[in-house]
Amino acid sequence: MTTTRFAPSPTGYIHVGNLRTALMNYLIARKAGGTFILRIDDTDPERSKEEYVDAIKQDMEWLGLHWDKVERQSERLDRYAEAADKLREMGRFYEAFETPTELDLKRKKQLNMGKPPVYDRAALNLSDAEKEALRSERGNGVWRFKLDHERIEWTDGILGDISIDASSVSDPVLIRGDGQVLYTIASVVDDTEMGVTDVVRGSDHVTNTATQIQIIEALGGTCPRFAHHSLLTGPQGEALSKRLGTLALRDLREQGVQPMALLSLMARLGSSDPVELRSDMAELIEGFDIHRFGAAPTKFDVQDLFPLTARHLQSLPLADVADAVADAGVPAELAEPFWAMARENITTLSDLKGWWELCRDGAEPLIDEEDREFIAAAVALLPEGPFNGETWGEWTKAVKEATGRKGKGLFMPLRKALTGMERGPEMASLLPLLQVIRARG
Ligand code: GLU
Repeated sequence: MTTTRFAPSPTGYIHVGNLRTALMNYLIARKAGGTFILRIDDTDPERSKEEYVDAIKQDMEWLGLHWDKVERQSERLDRYAEAADKLREMGRFYEAFETPTELDLKRKKQLNMGKPPVYDRAALNLSDAEKEALRSERGNGVWRFKLDHERIEWTDGILGDISIDASSVSDPVLIRGDGQVLYTIASVVDDTEMGVTDVVRGSDHVTNTATQIQIIEALGGTCPRFAHHSLLTGPQGEALSKRLGTLALRDLREQGVQPMALLSLMARLGSSDPVELRSDMAELIEGFDIHRFGAAPTKFDVQDLFPLTARHLQSLPLADVADAVADAGVPAELAEPFWAMARENITTLSDLKGWWELCRDGAEPLIDEEDREFIAAAVALLPEGPFNGETWGEWTKAVKEATGRKGKGLFMPLRKALTGMERGPEMASLLPLLQVIRARG
């Protein structure tokens, strides 16, 4: 059975980059009728915070990316210790004592000699006595996984055939000196034990994948299918990594972006299919195919989310936005006609308030000098009210007959006098909502 997971580290809020990973894994699981796991990668007790775990869950719920199970790495430390013992017994795990400064120096020397900065495995030559001496001097060493120096190959769901020479990669540290288990092994143990069949993540993980394939094999597990999506860049192709902090999902929510707009964009961005606004999750699932994504960096422009949000809102019935309409101050009896008028004229729900204020208080009339008499004549013809959907048509017909004006010369000054603006909602739908006509004087 297809099982995928989204595995954020709770060290911050999730952003659009994480969302791509979450969404792809979610859609694969749902399309196959499989299981989607939310895995909290919290093996780093200092940087992991409970508030971020809660925030991740809130953001996922907001988007409707419901998970079938939550797993926490901090509750599985004994599983990782067991796997580490297994690797030790196999002779695939060794302790190394270099300090960060020493490692840095080694890397610099290698680079100076034109060699790739790969860990030289000096620790493999330490005798037990030397290790003991280093341990008492520096404390416990780190534990590195001894890679087999052969080519590591897999067919990536997005990148195609990949082949990495293991000797070009440093033996990965799986356990730190202070005993903290690192993601590289924890993830392998989890993926294997939880039956994860498909792993989609960012292309910054390609080298991890190479080493993890060897660890999975060493531990006797089955490799999942891997797919690495390209990294997001800004609209001009500029690196987004520094700005991702400002593209947290909660900030987008705050700015009024609608989940379906965000999901529709992210489910297609970087693929050979056009971005289309989808009306619900079922449509997104139906239209998703990981193989249609490309390896090239994917341009992301936050501004694209707003027209999609506007179009999504236009498609909604009042029932879906009743709270927002009420929050904008609209009385319940006007909610239906107000929404019908306003939904064509908003980008986000926060724009509702402005339209309601216009209806409630009327607008400061905008009247050009040459239209003064015309407006005075027109206002005199405006019935007392209450207005209905026919009022605008009947009134403008009467004004036309009385003044001889027609077309733009008729409609535009009336619109400006009633709304204070040159553009805006259909006047026929707006007029019945206007509680005050300030142009009446
Ligand atoms: N916690 C890892 C990360 O956020 C998970 C990577 C993976 O999907 O394996 O980068």
